[in-house]
Amino acid sequence: MKTFALAGNPNCGKTTLFNALTGSTAHVGNWPGVTVDKREGVYKGGAEKVAIVDLPGIYSLSPYTPEEVISRNFILDEKPDGIINIVDATNLERNLYLTTQLLEMDVPVIVALNMMDEVEKVGDSIDVPALERAIGVPVVAISALRKSGIKELMGRAIAMPAKRRGATVLGGALASKIERAKQFFAATGVSSPLFHAVKMLEGDEIELRHDGAKQVYEEISAGHDMEAAVADERYKYISAHFSTAKLKKQKSALTRSDRVDKVLTHRVWGLPIFAVILFVIFHLTFAEDLFYINTIYSAATGGGALPTFGDMGYGFLGDSEIYENFGIALAACFYDGAVFSPGVILTNLFNLLLNYISYGIGLGVEAAGAAEWAASLVNDGIVGGITAVLGFLPQILTLFLFFSILEDTGYMARVAFILDRIFRRFGLSGRAFMPMIMGFGCSLPAMINTRTLADDNERTATIRVIPFFSCGAKLPILTAIAGGMCQLFGLPSVELITFCMYVLGIITAVICVIVMRATTMRGAVPPFIMELPAYHIPGFKNLMLHLWDKTKHFVKKAFTIIFVSTVLIWFLQSFRWNWTYIGADDMGESILASIGQFIQPIFTPLGFGSQLGTQYGWVFAVAAITGLIAKENVIATFTVLAAMIAPGFEGTEEGVEEAVLMISSTGMTPAACIAFIMFNMTTIPCFAAVATAKAELPAGKFGGTLVFWLVTSYLVGTAIYTVGNWWWTVFIWLVVAIAAAAVIVLYNLGKINLPKWGKRRA
Ligand code: GDP
Ligand code: MG
Repeated sequence: MKTFALAGNPNCGKTTLFNALTGSTAHVGNWPGVTVDKREGVYKGGAEKVAIVDLPGIYSLSPYTPEEVISRNFILDEKPDGIINIVDATNLERNLYLTTQLLEMDVPVIVALNMMDEVEKVGDSIDVPALERAIGVPVVAISALRKSGIKELMGRAIAMPAKRRGATVLGGALASKIERAKQFFAATGVSSPLFHAVKMLEGDEIELRHDGAKQVYEEISAGHDMEAAVADERYKYISAHFSTAKLKKQKSALTRSDRVDKVLTHRVWGLPIFAVILFVIFHLTFAEDLFYINTIYSAATGGGALPTFGDMGYGFLGDSEIYENFGIALAACFYDGAVFSPGVILTNLFNLLLNYISYGIGLGVEAAGAAEWAASLVNDGIVGGITAVLGFLPQILTLFLFFSILEDTGYMARVAFILDRIFRRFGLSGRAFMPMIMGFGCSLPAMINTRTLADDNERTATIRVIPFFSCGAKLPILTAIAGGMCQLFGLPSVELITFCMYVLGIITAVICVIVMRATTMRGAVPPFIMELPAYHIPGFKNLMLHLWDKTKHFVKKAFTIIFVSTVLIWFLQSFRWNWTYIGADDMGESILASIGQFIQPIFTPLGFGSQLGTQYGWVFAVAAITGLIAKENVIATFTVLAAMIAPGFEGTEEGVEEAVLMISSTGMTPAACIAFIMFNMTTIPCFAAVATAKAELPAGKFGGTLVFWLVTSYLVGTAIYTVGNWWWTVFIWLVVAIAAAAVIVLYNLGKINLPKWGKRRA
């Protein structure tokens, strides 16, 4: 079977073409040794079956990113029978830059001129035969999205001669140098000597590793850096010979993309526009008062409120009530005192379904006459835990969908570009931005997304701070504790506390990045040469595939890990050390309680340790520990333990009442509450995120990362509690510490001489 490799710039339609070619036969894995997606599939629509390998999206074949190295090595070492070079026809000149490099390799190339539907839509046309004559390899106009031209493309690909000699567009002053280098490589017997020769001219470090290559390079370069000259020559050639103007039979002055970019990447307005887009996305995903209708109504009527179903006499819809009044339960998914956002509506609907399922399972367990412990295992341990986690899926999916749309349209590339200037000050490139923003949804896909970062140290630093961008699962901790604090300490607004916590998380992340990039995670920020793809309307099927790709991973991991961990927690809180079942009322005797009392002192500096007493005080320690498995466990633990402190306790969905009970019966101070939230936000993230971090981090960085999370969260928690509780004591110590630091610095600078201990000169 012949093998063809798909190569092209990011966003040129590679995935779309790959899916169109291989249908459902695709196989996704990782490239050996690196965590970049490897897709393989089989095309069965032609005269013979051919294997298709999707190379990562790249702009050039220089060795600056893992993607570029992978693509280059694949072509040189695996020697595919041909390369299908996908070119975005709406961006010919920029895409042909890669094409000119591919043509230098000794491998058959065919150009798939994609997005022709777009070109035709704006009334342009491209002179395909002219392009074909100019570059000397077959060119076929296609539309991957509309699936047109694909049969012709594959037909001509399969019919290509098996061998092809590389050819370069570079000439002039460079020609003799290239010839000299080519002779050197031809003599060593490597394949594609021309390609190697040009790369050597660029000072490519991979080429200089060949025996004797350094001397040849020094001879032909004569001390000059020729990388820029090569790139310049390429661009000049492309615009002179294949320029859009030459190839397009008619041309429009400014493309639509260019016009849109004038606004969206504006120096001043670019960022505010992005902030607004982001805000709208979060609003549509999380808001429980869509477009602030209720708030506006309240302001307009001087404190009036839209009626809830409770006001209308339907009461709180608990598990059994939803059976009695399905219509109201369904309606309450969309509106209850305020109109909900799409994300919240989906969550409500999905949770309604989960409620029915778990209630039904509960009835089944009862009817089967299971023992008390068995019923508790099924209802609390398994069903309760899994539904609690699955319940977050709709919101996570909604957020993914919006981000996928931004990504597929080509807008995210612009944002990274806008933010690059600011990120550079922290020692990161603009590419680090996407993973961070995704962290607000879930750390798992965010960590996977760091694959676009070229520098290992930059990648490590980014993965480490991703959990500080508080994810969806941490939101319940925030809202519950903040709600409790407002009730107990008379603080004004839950939203304000929540918002400040988010900001505090971001500040922690920024400080950590700056410190890491200046110390253990040093490294140059690679120049951000990202060429902006043209805007597209994303295809629906493509979006769904994107979503599926990203969530499959999440669901699988979350499901297995949550399942095991909730059963474990259930066991620890339901059994004594002598393996006897205790039920929910006597939890003080449980294994969990004794473990909690044992570890409690660790958290004393953070304000939720020994000072809370041993009767209930250990619950926060236990909650923090169970949170290591899944952050949802923190509030879930409160819920279970609340029943023990106050038998017959009826909680609320948001966990606020539980938090009030926990805080008031342990005597937590406000500073300790904040420290507790921040500890959970910055410590080792959930199990699934830890597993992902392990898979995504460069080799040897995992252990240090765990230590980093523990130390950071402990320091942040301690600092908050200490400053909050004893701000004046802290102030005095701060003065002392600054004075001491000043002395040490001055001493090291040699400005002051301290008396030497021990030896004394006479
Ligand atoms: P990749 O990054 O190279 O894998 O690109 P994708 O396959 O994800 O495509 C990027 C965007 O271009 C998506 O929104 C696609 O729907 C769109 N796209 C891909 N091929 C075509 C095409 O032939 N015509 C049009 N109009 N859009 C396309
Ligand atoms: Mg893709």
